[in-house]
Amino acid sequence: MPAASSPRLRFVPLGGLGEIGANCFALEQDDGILVVDCGTSFPQNDIGIDVVHPDFRWLEQNRHRISGLVLTHAHEDHIGAVPYFLRAIEAPIWGPAHALELVKHRLAEHDIREHEVDLRPAPSGTRYAVGPFTVEPVRVAHSIVEASALCIDTCAGTVVHTGDFNLDPEPPDGEPTDVERLKAIGERGVRLLFSDSTNIDVPERPGSERAVGETLHRLIAEAPKCVVVAMFASNVQRLLMVGKIAQATGRKICLLGRSLGVHVDVARRIGRLDWPSNLVIGAEHLENQRRDKVLVLAGGTQGEGVSAMRRLASQTHQQLRLEAGDTVIHSARVIPGNERVVHDMFCDLLRQGVRLHTRHSDPGVHTSGHAGRSEQAQMIEWLRPRAFVPVHGTLHHLRRHAELARSLGVPETLVVENGTPVAVDADGIRRDAAVVHGKVNIAYGGEVLEPETAKRRADLGRYGVVVVSLVLSSNRRVVLASKVEARGVPTLDEQPGACRSVEREIRSSLEHLGGASLELVETEVRRAARRAILESTGLRPVLFVHVLSEQ
Ligand SMILES: [Zn+2]
Ligand SMILES: [Zn+2]
Repeated sequence: MPAASSPRLRFVPLGGLGEIGANCFALEQDDGILVVDCGTSFPQNDIGIDVVHPDFRWLEQNRHRISGLVLTHAHEDHIGAVPYFLRAIEAPIWGPAHALELVKHRLAEHDIREHEVDLRPAPSGTRYAVGPFTVEPVRVAHSIVEASALCIDTCAGTVVHTGDFNLDPEPPDGEPTDVERLKAIGERGVRLLFSDSTNIDVPERPGSERAVGETLHRLIAEAPKCVVVAMFASNVQRLLMVGKIAQATGRKICLLGRSLGVHVDVARRIGRLDWPSNLVIGAEHLENQRRDKVLVLAGGTQGEGVSAMRRLASQTHQQLRLEAGDTVIHSARVIPGNERVVHDMFCDLLRQGVRLHTRHSDPGVHTSGHAGRSEQAQMIEWLRPRAFVPVHGTLHHLRRHAELARSLGVPETLVVENGTPVAVDADGIRRDAAVVHGKVNIAYGGEVLEPETAKRRADLGRYGVVVVSLVLSSNRRVVLASKVEARGVPTLDEQPGACRSVEREIRSSLEHLGGASLELVETEVRRAARRAILESTGLRPVLFVHVLSEQ
C-alpha cells in the first residue's frame, strides 16, 4: 500500500524545543489539531520585556481546525501564555484543577472574563475526547502538585508526552508517578514518546523533596533568630513541607511577594495545601512578632528587580529589615544567566551579618523537579516506544536525550527544534517542511513589543538620546530659539553648559544657509549636531531634530 494512503499525524513544535521555556506543541491530523501546553519564557535582555511567548501564527492560520488546548501542569513555562493564546484562538482548555485555577487568575489579570473561556478540569486517570483525539492524563511527580503526563490516542497510534516529571517515590503530596499505568500503556504499545530532557546532564537526580525538607528543618531548627526561605512560589510540594516545619519549630509563616501569595491561595483553595488558618501572619504583624518565632517565605530567588529578596538584600523592604544573626536559606537553583545578579544579592546579604545557606554551602537545600538521566531511561524502558522525540530542552539536551533513547534500543529517534514538524505514518517518522514560528515579546503594560521597536529601545539604552529643537524666523535667516537636551549621554546629560556649546555649533553651521528650504536646514542641523556631539562625547546617540519655522 502506498505510504500516502496511511493516516498521517504531524507533531508541530512551537516552543520548548531548542530552548528551556515557552513550551507549546500541536498534534495535527486531517480532522483536528490538539495543542499541548502554552507557556512563557523569560526575556534574555533588560529592555522592559515582561514575558516572551511562542509565535502563534501557525495556530491562527489553522484556528478553525483546533479542537482544544490541554495543559500538563501549572508552571509558567506551560500555562503562562494562555491569555495571549486566547487573544487569537477560541478553544476549550483541559487541565488539572490546579493549573486551571491559576489560569483563571491569569485571565483576571488580563481582564478576560472567566465565563468567556471554556475551562474543563481533567484529573489524572480520566479519559476525554478532544476532537478526534482521546486524552488520558497520567499522574507524574514534579515540583508542583497535579502534574500529568498525557497518553493520547491518535490516527497513528498511541502518543505519550511525559510532561515535566520525576520518579520521586515519596513526594510530599503523597502522589508519586503512576508507574503501573505507564507500564500498562507501554504494554499496549506506544507509537511515539515525547519526554522531558531538562536534566539529561544529571546522571542521578540528587536527593528528593523530602530530603530537602529534612535539610530545611535542621537549618530552621538551629536558627537563633528570624529565618527567611527564598523559594519558587509555585513549588507547592515545598510549601507543604515548610508548613510542617513551621508548626514543628513553633514559628509563624509570613509570605513576602505577590506570586507566593497567589500560589498559596490557589493551592489552599483547591485543597492541596493544608495549612491551618492561624499559621500565616500578615507582613504588617512582623514587627510585633518575636524574631525567633517567624519563618518568612520570600519570592525573588533570581534577584529580580522589585522582588522581596532583592529588597531584603538592599535593606529597602518596607516591612522587614534583616539583622545580624538572622538566617537566609536560598532554597532554589540559579537559572543560567542570572548567576551574577544572584551572587551580588548573596554578598549584600552577607554584609548584613546574615547566616546564609545556599546550594554551595548546603547542597540539600534544593533539588530539581525534573527527572535525571537514570529516571529518563526508566521512563523509556517502561513505555518502550517505537519512536522517540525529545522535548523540553536546548538542542544540546535534545541531542543527548535522543542518544540515550537510541542506546536503549528505540528504533526511531529524531531531534527537531521549534518550527520543524515531524510527520508520523506507517513507514516511520521524518522531518516535514518548516512552519512559521518564533517568539513574541510582551512589554511591561501588556502589549507586543515588535522587533523594530525593541531594537530602538535597545539603542536608546546603549547610546542615549539627544533632542535638538530650533525655531527659525519666517525668512529662515534668524534662529529665534534653540534647545539641546540629552538623556543618558555622558558629558551632556543634565549639563546645560555642554548642551549650549552644541547649540552654538549648530547655530554657526546655519549662518551661510539663510533662506534655504526647511528640509535643507534640518539636514544641516542634523549634520552639525552629530559632528558636535561626536566631538564632545565620542558617541553617536539616538538623535531627534525638530526645526520649526515662524509663519
Ligand atoms: Zn514544570
Ligand atoms: Zn517545564
